[in-house]
Amino acid sequence: MTRSTISVMAGGLVGLFLLCFVAESAEAQVRFRKPFGSWYRVSAHFDNSGAAAGCVDYACRRNCYSTHNGTDYSMPVGTHIIAAAPGTVIERNDGCPNYGYRGNQCGNRCGNFVRLEHDDGSQTVYCHMERGTPIQNRTRVSCGQYLGRSASSGSSDGPHLHFGYRPSAGSTPRDPYHGACATAASRWVGQGDYNDNPSTSCQTNCACSSGQTQTEGCGRCGRRTRSCNSSCQWGGWSTCSGEGDCSPGQSQSEACCDCGTQTRLCGTNCQWAGWGTCGGPDPSPLESCDTELLGVCAEGTVRCQEGCRTCVQNLEASDEVCDGLDNNCNGVTDEGNPPLGDGPPPPFAATRLDASLPSVFDRDGLATGWVRFRNDGTETWEPETVFLRIDGDPDTILALRDRDTWHSWDVPAIATGRAAPGESLVVTFALRQPDERLDSHDPLRLHLESLVGGPLMCPTPDMAFTASFVLGEETEDAPARNIPVVVWIDDPKEPNPIGGPMDDTDAGIGDVADAAPPQAPRADMDENSTGQSPDEFSSQSGCTALAGRPSPSMFPFATLLGLFVLCRRRTRTPRS
Ligand SMILES: [Zn+2]
Repeated sequence: MTRSTISVMAGGLVGLFLLCFVAESAEAQVRFRKPFGSWYRVSAHFDNSGAAAGCVDYACRRNCYSTHNGTDYSMPVGTHIIAAAPGTVIERNDGCPNYGYRGNQCGNRCGNFVRLEHDDGSQTVYCHMERGTPIQNRTRVSCGQYLGRSASSGSSDGPHLHFGYRPSAGSTPRDPYHGACATAASRWVGQGDYNDNPSTSCQTNCACSSGQTQTEGCGRCGRRTRSCNSSCQWGGWSTCSGEGDCSPGQSQSEACCDCGTQTRLCGTNCQWAGWGTCGGPDPSPLESCDTELLGVCAEGTVRCQEGCRTCVQNLEASDEVCDGLDNNCNGVTDEGNPPLGDGPPPPFAATRLDASLPSVFDRDGLATGWVRFRNDGTETWEPETVFLRIDGDPDTILALRDRDTWHSWDVPAIATGRAAPGESLVVTFALRQPDERLDSHDPLRLHLESLVGGPLMCPTPDMAFTASFVLGEETEDAPARNIPVVVWIDDPKEPNPIGGPMDDTDAGIGDVADAAPPQAPRADMDENSTGQSPDEFSSQSGCTALAGRPSPSMFPFATLLGLFVLCRRRTRTPRS
């Protein structure tokens, strides 16, 4: 860019600036009415000759005197002087005698005077007034408002009003009239003919009506007002008030709870809407935690839920299955001997495959039974590490205990075999004929336990039976010590103990197993039995019809044994 280009641009800018300035000042220019009411002759106009000798008035005539910087209107002393336009009193003098003389310096030759500043910054001055002017400095006056009375104070040789005008504070006085020798625009509302007075009308070129107010929006939904002043121009805008808290469309986010953020939006009313939901991502990396729940529900992961760190359980409660876990979160593991689940079984679990219990005692007063279990756990049962424990009424247990074979008062047998996971094991035990009639119907329970793993919980590690031993009557064929007695065994959990099968009719005992155990306890029991077959027994007790029922696979073994007792009890009940 060359230097000349810059200067041209600068010149253009200056010109533009001046143009704007002129246009602005012309628009805002205050115009005057004549500063008194009646008609008075102009005795001396403004001298427009400048530095030249002599004087020239605005119309290039000579109704003036050299260097006169205002317009003189001849009028009687006491004539009311009024403001030519709205403005403010910025200077006054009231200390001069009402009659001065030519050259009198009182009031800087102006005598008693009032000076107004108008809304466009221009000033008017009213000289040679009468002493006692009431108007005070800083007084706001309207167009035509009374300022004081005329006189001849200061440098004056006769009563008149000297009306002076300057476009701005400190500038050179100008002629308010327009004419061939005063080319600036007339400052009068109506200048009138050369020999006439200016108009008495106040300026009506108003931007607004005095007292009118205007309101508009500002800032963030705020309002501001302005008022029309006495010179019918708008005053400045008030400060913006009633602004909202935000700008429409603005958004704001903040942390909430301890892992979330929430956001709110600024509405069209410049007010914040409510906070949105609090949320955030889960902590990374994930953290483990304790839900304080039981079982599998205890293990949790810290999640960010609704913005808050929350320990959420990893697994929901479900039906209990045999897996060494508290699946239903009730604080007990594998309770109720639940079925095996899909998951890994617990270390110690057993299924009762089948069992046998004689219905009679032999001549030695013994009844030998057996139970076959399958190892459904993950640990091998070493010899003499699993055993049967019997639970129930202690009196009944003690009455049935065989001191020769029981390990302790509530441990009828200890398994001598070995069973790896998946293999089965038979445990044999003996009951001794009670000395007295026993008709307790409290269920007894044989339960498999491990020295290492404690009571085996599931899926079916135990059997229950109700023993009701009734001494039979002595007959010729059966002396008192070896007559059959009845052991009613059933599983109290089964709804229908009578419906059991009885296909081992040749066993001579209440053997309900559908297969012989591997260690052939059946043979042992045959030896120890009375030799009386269930058929015979059933016949005696009138329960023949119960033989040959459906397959035992459909029923737990214990239900069958109940048949004997039931039948026996039915036949014997009328006698007892
Ligand atoms: Zn004068």
